[in-house]
Amino acid sequence: KMSSLEPREDRRIYVCVRKRPLNQRETTMKDLDIITIPSHNVVMVHESKQKVDLTRYLENQTFCFDHAFDDTASNELVYQFTAQPLVESIFRKGMATCFAYGQTGSGKTHTMGGAFSGRDQDCSKGIYSLVAQDVFLLLKTSVYKKLDLKVYGTFFEIYGGKVYDLLNWKKKLQVLEDGNQQIQVVGLQEQEVCCVEDVLNLVELGNSCRTSGQTSVNAHSSRSHAVFQIILKSRGKLHGKFSLVDLAGNERGADTAKVNRQRQLEGAEINKSLLALKECIRALGQNKSHTPFRASKLTQVLRDSFIGQNSFTCMIATISPGMASCENTLNTLRYANRVK
Ligand code: ADP
Ligand code: MG
Repeated sequence: KMSSLEPREDRRIYVCVRKRPLNQRETTMKDLDIITIPSHNVVMVHESKQKVDLTRYLENQTFCFDHAFDDTASNELVYQFTAQPLVESIFRKGMATCFAYGQTGSGKTHTMGGAFSGRDQDCSKGIYSLVAQDVFLLLKTSVYKKLDLKVYGTFFEIYGGKVYDLLNWKKKLQVLEDGNQQIQVVGLQEQEVCCVEDVLNLVELGNSCRTSGQTSVNAHSSRSHAVFQIILKSRGKLHGKFSLVDLAGNERGADTAKVNRQRQLEGAEINKSLLALKECIRALGQNKSHTPFRASKLTQVLRDSFIGQNSFTCMIATISPGMASCENTLNTLRYANRVK
């Protein structure tokens, strides 16, 4: 049975927070867990467990969301309250989008299921795979069988304001807008998929493409947005689309610190796109007629997701539990708070 949380016209945006467990490194460094989830939709940051410095003494802060998941939550549980309720909308010509937003290392890729770094990392339990599973289930139901739909996958990366096809050796692609404001990523590979296995193969291919030539997986992936889309077509024409977006790390610093020029530009570009994303999601939530989607490449390629009567978005804000991540965690929670 699909989730009972069907999206409503008057509620287009769902925002939840997911806390990961303290990792080995944090435990070794005796970092403190400063996050509690006192109920299913409340997140508390206990800054005052320790003095920040001699002049500042910060209070605990409380944030409310549609859902808050503690470090015992599984990907399946997170999925049930975020992306799953939106799956059926794409069979009704909808545009659904799920964003993973947060600091590098907070669990975005773990949640989405985009990591293939070993047997222990079970990518088949991530949101990419769980969405695919439900799409193929719905496709077989009597209501939707008669629509004669075909399923396609795309996987691309946005880095430094440029689009690269992860299913085609990172080929650089142009984004064009026609007279009707329709956005097209020219030449983007759309691969037909017939089962969950096919989808996972695409994710694996794209992931190997994403990280190839990089010394560290996170070093590169933290500075680019990865967009995986499941597209329904009826007789060659677009029917509905689910975009699953593993956003670039939102940590500040790269744009201001004295690092190399490349990093500064990357940081500035990421800030710009995350700011644009916030504005576009807010415009969708408030049913505004104007959506500033042209402000970044990310929001431009996702234009369909922010416009129209049948667009629904969920955001999973991932947070690290440690005191050492406090500033980043607060920034993530404030951002998530603004888009809801
Ligand atoms: P990000 O994509 O945000 O940079 P990752 O998803 O790569 O972060 O997560 C960083 C590390 O933390 C990975 O080793 C991942 O397996 C682990 N991790 C993240 N979230 C969880 C979680 N909820 N439970 C257990 N391990 C997690
Ligand atoms: Mg990642």
